[in-house]
Amino acid sequence: MNIHEYQGKQILKSFGVNVQEGIVADTPEQAVEAAKQLKIDYNSDWVVIKAQIHAGGRGKGGGVKLAKNLEEVKQRATDIIGMQLVTPQTGPEGKLVSKILVAQDVYYPGASETKEFYISVLLDRAKGRNIIMYSTEGGMDIEEVAEHTPHLIFKEEIDPKVGLQGFQARKIAFKLGLSGGAHKEMVKFVTALYKAYDTTDSSMFEINPVLKTSDDKVIAVDAKVDIDENALYRHPDYAAMRDTAEEDPTEVEASASNLNFVNLDGNVGCMVNGAGLAMATMDIIKLAGGEPANFLDVGGTANATTVKAAFNIILKDPNVKAILINIFGGIVRCDRVAQGVIDAYQEIGNIPVPIICRLQGTNAEEAKKLIDESGLKVYSAIALKEAADLVTKVLAEQA
Ligand code: GDP
Ligand code: MN
Repeated sequence: MNIHEYQGKQILKSFGVNVQEGIVADTPEQAVEAAKQLKIDYNSDWVVIKAQIHAGGRGKGGGVKLAKNLEEVKQRATDIIGMQLVTPQTGPEGKLVSKILVAQDVYYPGASETKEFYISVLLDRAKGRNIIMYSTEGGMDIEEVAEHTPHLIFKEEIDPKVGLQGFQARKIAFKLGLSGGAHKEMVKFVTALYKAYDTTDSSMFEINPVLKTSDDKVIAVDAKVDIDENALYRHPDYAAMRDTAEEDPTEVEASASNLNFVNLDGNVGCMVNGAGLAMATMDIIKLAGGEPANFLDVGGTANATTVKAAFNIILKDPNVKAILINIFGGIVRCDRVAQGVIDAYQEIGNIPVPIICRLQGTNAEEAKKLIDESGLKVYSAIALKEAADLVTKVLAEQA
């Protein structure tokens, strides 16, 4: 689950990480009030107005703007709230900005003595360990740094038995070229950042840039946080940070029905039990000459209720030309699933696209018989090859 920058900073702060202070606002008037409140403790009168959307690269898209006085705060806030912000990560349609963060300008005075770093904590799946990835090249797109100057990206592996060690935090500060007070600040920063990542059950905390100020403070200027959804039951306060307006509406509906669903661009919808089989089914669709329109794992219980919810979600996509149901009946019996498909079909009424239903496993033959005798426009199959050929056939018929 992704959260907004301002929420990520709240979490960081609660773990003792220094952050660029800010106040979130929904209207230009609130932004002005926020700016008044902020001019407390930093040496600058400037503030920065930052669009809150679940995508990076906001600076490049015009979603991060400095304001030198309250007049400008109001102007910038008016410009940014309600804008359709396009960044390299949003796609061409952009994202609607409904909140902004009014934050203290931490770069001045003495901007020439500031330095931007990149620091992230994430799970390295290949190593099966958390790592801290860091670079002297902060403030830029890390993918670009990785491409052009990969030797400037460093990684520190964390042993899960002992966690982040003091010497590792010191090594990171040293490799970032820091000494004296800034070195000490960085050690504290990295230690608290790792604690935040670990305690919140996150899969990523990316801080880009981490700023060393002219007076040697180390501050998180940005925060991209991804909390593991499977752990949210342990963190009701973080679960409440979810902003469904930022998510794909169909995916939000699917998760309400407990379906694992990801929207894709293709023309063949699929409904499968088990993530591995779902991946294999997407391959089969490609082999059959189609493109998967989605990933959908109905989980262990493929009954009429889940099948109906899955149908409704798949049918929302106007690109869908056929639906492939691929269920393996191990614990769940195929004839039960077949009955579920028939019931769901009849409840929904006229489904406008052909359905191919491949049921294999316990009582597969009975299931096929049920489907064939239902009189509905559902093609049955037992072997995978048969199902793939049917996909090819129904797509050809519509071409
Ligand atoms: P992103 O573009 O979505 O990654 O948003 P960031 O929060 O990283 O902001 C983009 C850029 O704006 C940063 O790399 C900084 O260079 C700049 N920026 C952010 N906060 C301030 C600030 O307080 N003062 C100044 N001068 N620049 C800032
Ligand atoms: Mn950033």
